[in-house]
Amino acid sequence: MHDHHHPHDHDHDHNGSELSPVEARVRALESILVEKGYVEPAALDAIIDTYETRIGPRNGARVVARAWSDPAYAQRLREDATAAIAELGFSGRQGEHMVAVFNDRDTHHVVVCTLCSCYPWPVLGLPPVWYKSAPYRSRVVIDPRSVLAEFGTRVPADKTIRVCDSTAEIRYLVIPERPPGTEGWSEQQLAELVTRDSMIGTGLPRSPQAA
Ligand code: FE
Repeated sequence: MHDHHHPHDHDHDHNGSELSPVEARVRALESILVEKGYVEPAALDAIIDTYETRIGPRNGARVVARAWSDPAYAQRLREDATAAIAELGFSGRQGEHMVAVFNDRDTHHVVVCTLCSCYPWPVLGLPPVWYKSAPYRSRVVIDPRSVLAEFGTRVPADKTIRVCDSTAEIRYLVIPERPPGTEGWSEQQLAELVTRDSMIGTGLPRSPQAA
């Protein structure tokens, strides 16, 4: 399962600890800029956090909210996710071959790239550090239920967990189940419930009570 053809143009981190050449250069540039007083490390962290958790995943959240609200859109998303996502204006590198996987009563999906860190940038932004880590990549395949429990996500025993391993081109977007108690909600309200992790499958949407 680890020998799939994987020729893509992002930084590979095959042992989970050693820096890639690009990462090493970024790290070196950062330390020079900090040393010279041009940037604040805290400001850089804030920018990265913005792309990881705020701007990036909000695109995916809009896709999910549309799918929850519009059955015809959900159907287009099932048939050709790349095109359906592009309808909302989200496309580009690492999002050329999108597949939407829908959670339902019987099945929960969780996404990994066992080989490196493939991630659907146009809809989720930058991948979180744990997504790229060797323990997540190896363990979620072997024992997804325990890994999800560590994220605080308990999947009922009678639900199948399907692990979607990103390949050379395919990037997955999990469409979580619409939370009960959201009848009549606008797409904008629904999007507020959609967390980044619920679109990777390591989490669930927020409950309407929490929102
Ligand atoms: Fe990869």
